[in-house]
Amino acid sequence: MDRAEVTAWVALGANLGDAAQTLREALTILSDLPGVRMVKASSLYRTAPVESSGPDYINAVAELTTTLTAPDLLIALQGIEQDFGRERPYHNAPRTLDLDLLLYGSASITSPALTLPHPRMWQRAFVLVPLAEIAPVLVSDNAMAAVSGQGIVPYPEQAPRTISPA
Ligand code: ADP
Ligand code: MG
Repeated sequence: MDRAEVTAWVALGANLGDAAQTLREALTILSDLPGVRMVKASSLYRTAPVESSGPDYINAVAELTTTLTAPDLLIALQGIEQDFGRERPYHNAPRTLDLDLLLYGSASITSPALTLPHPRMWQRAFVLVPLAEIAPVLVSDNAMAAVSGQGIVPYPEQAPRTISPA
């Protein structure tokens, strides 16, 4: 019997190389994973590093449905990170691609390899702003207010409109 589909949310982040291109490619690869269907992807955002270093990050969030278990989905995400040449020289090092599993249905799991919901998602504007774009019911006003001091802007930024003289 086929497993039922579960809705899952994945956060994407990159801050080395052509980060925006990496995220676009990663979204395509995600949607092509066996057992995964892409429902919605947020637009891209640019954020200053939080607890990390190096250039600004490009971030996004994707809503998927999947027949994979949560651990198998995480393994698939880590495989994509590896494909993009991610190295982990030290904790929170700059990275070519970071894929975090935010939510997997209503699963609540605490294990060394996988904690769900993602334990730091509510502290991060770079997660909550793109998540609210595609799933506003998941992010309360209070949750958003808690990260309002963190800088995050749409990417690419909208150029200010200039009015040419008549
Ligand atoms: P971070 O994403 O927190 O900056 P890493 O991507 O290096 O750091 O992840 C470190 C570890 O976190 C991984 O080995 C992974 O097994 C574990 N982990 C626990 N819960 C999750 C989750 N919900 N999503 C992604 N990784 C997780
Ligand atoms: Mg990660």
